[in-house]
Amino acid sequence: MFKSDYLNRVYAGVEARNPGEKEFLQAVYEVLESLEPVVEANPRLEANGILERIVEPERQIFFRVPWVDDNGKVHVNRGFRVQFNSAIGPYKGGLRLHPSVNASVIKFLGFEQIFKNSLTSLPIGGGKGGSDFDPKGKSDMEVMRFCQSFMTELSKHIGADTDVPAGDIGTGAREIGFMYGQYKRLRNEFTGVLTGKGLTYGGSLARTEATGYGLCYFVEEMLNCMKNDSFKGKTVVISGSGNVAIYANKKATELGGKVVAMSDSNGYIVDMNGINLDVVKQIKEVERGRIKEYVNRVKGAKYHEGCSDIWTVKCDIALPCATQNEINEESAKALIANGVIAVGEGANMPSTPEAVAAFQNAGVLFAPAKAANAGGVATSALEMSQNSMRYSWTFEEVDSKLKSIMVNIFHNAYDAAEKYGKKGNLVAGANIAGFEKVAEAMLAQGVAY
Ligand code: NDP
Repeated sequence: MFKSDYLNRVYAGVEARNPGEKEFLQAVYEVLESLEPVVEANPRLEANGILERIVEPERQIFFRVPWVDDNGKVHVNRGFRVQFNSAIGPYKGGLRLHPSVNASVIKFLGFEQIFKNSLTSLPIGGGKGGSDFDPKGKSDMEVMRFCQSFMTELSKHIGADTDVPAGDIGTGAREIGFMYGQYKRLRNEFTGVLTGKGLTYGGSLARTEATGYGLCYFVEEMLNCMKNDSFKGKTVVISGSGNVAIYANKKATELGGKVVAMSDSNGYIVDMNGINLDVVKQIKEVERGRIKEYVNRVKGAKYHEGCSDIWTVKCDIALPCATQNEINEESAKALIANGVIAVGEGANMPSTPEAVAAFQNAGVLFAPAKAANAGGVATSALEMSQNSMRYSWTFEEVDSKLKSIMVNIFHNAYDAAEKYGKKGNLVAGANIAGFEKVAEAMLAQGVAY
């Protein structure tokens, strides 16, 4: 329950309209909670129905995705695209391919994306999409046929100035390539309709690295400004071994940290000498194998079955980079008992609300996903700019823009929290800073949608 009647009414409406959608309800609750002081200070929000409008997607597209496997058998998956909010720019957000994908997951991600995209200070609205298709264990040709079928429908709803999807869990360079090829075939146009493209056909340098690097730039700035500290000499645990985790590892190591544990959806590895990232990349990126293979290649490393115990590995900095709700209260308490000083969320909503409260109550610096992992989408927006200009910036140019965007996001979130009496609470600060810009734009544009 909120103190504000307005917030209680809005949330009750969301619950009634989206029954059982627990991820979406969790995300909405968390944002509304942060906005309590903003709503109190700005009666215009209620008068103009801003919150009622912001929690309802502008458009939701659910569709059938039939495809044929290598044995000629027909399969049917479900495709999703939720175009959540276009007040400040074209819808932008990734495509998740994972068996756990459903309307609730896509809506939670799309809702979060509105505020994240706003925080980047770039002109991009919020959206998200994907399918319950599982690329794991499929041949390249099966993945291609799925992607072509998926894009056949999706292409009717997206465009370089309308909606620009990107990668996410299960959608990497291979999938983006297949989808882009199909879009081009159907529409006969070469435009920046997807980001995360290969470098030979309009991709941006540093996009692959951007979310992991951006996470570390954010955490470094947070440590520096709030604790006069840095990654240097710190022990780091990173969950996941996908795109975000790999590049978070690379940058954390470059900044002087030592990463001692990583995971995949089966289990985690511990290497007290510091994880050898080349070995992880070979296993996960080249061979598309399992992380447990690491212990057969690196002496002294250990593998443990199951994911959640990775948080019992002693560390100074924890970077959850796998999936939602991977740190519960128990895991948070284990990290706190082991002396963690900072947590930076690379994945979307990896900490449960109880875990976030535990970190905040224990005085652990906490960088919420919306702010800390915005580097990926920010660099996607830089890819869109380069595509519009038909021009490419160097790696160094993109990386330095990314760094200044992340530093800026930290300060915007920090300042917004302070302005509304929640100094040091970056969860509230990120929600408020992201929200204010979108709300202003919606107010200016009238009740048009
Ligand atoms: P990838 O598919 O490249 O990697 C995901 C990693 O997480 C894999 O190691 C995977 O293991 C592991 N994983 C997936 N599900 C689970 C689970 N239920 N339990 C434990 N581990 C799991 O995805 P990304 O690295 O791109 O994305 C990771 C997170 O970061 C997601 O929350 C995504 O939304 C978020 N994110 C990504 C951005 C990007 O630019 N890529 C941008 C912003 C946020 P396995 O190999 O076994 O599947």
